Amino acid sequence: MAQMYCVKCRAKRDDPNATPVTMKNGKPAMKGKCPVCGTGMYKIGKA
Ligand SMILES: [Zn+2]
Repeated sequence: MAQMYCVKCRAKRDDPNATPVTMKNGKPAMKGKCPVCGTGMYKIGKA
């Protein structure tokens, strides 16, 4: 479970299906999807 910020809803959302990814600069991040509007969400760092 990762809590992320949806820029479209302007609210924090929880995405239970968030997956860990590595950004271009090599830093870890979490990638998820807003369950309300479907916008992609990113969170820097590990969940
Ligand atoms: Zn949203």
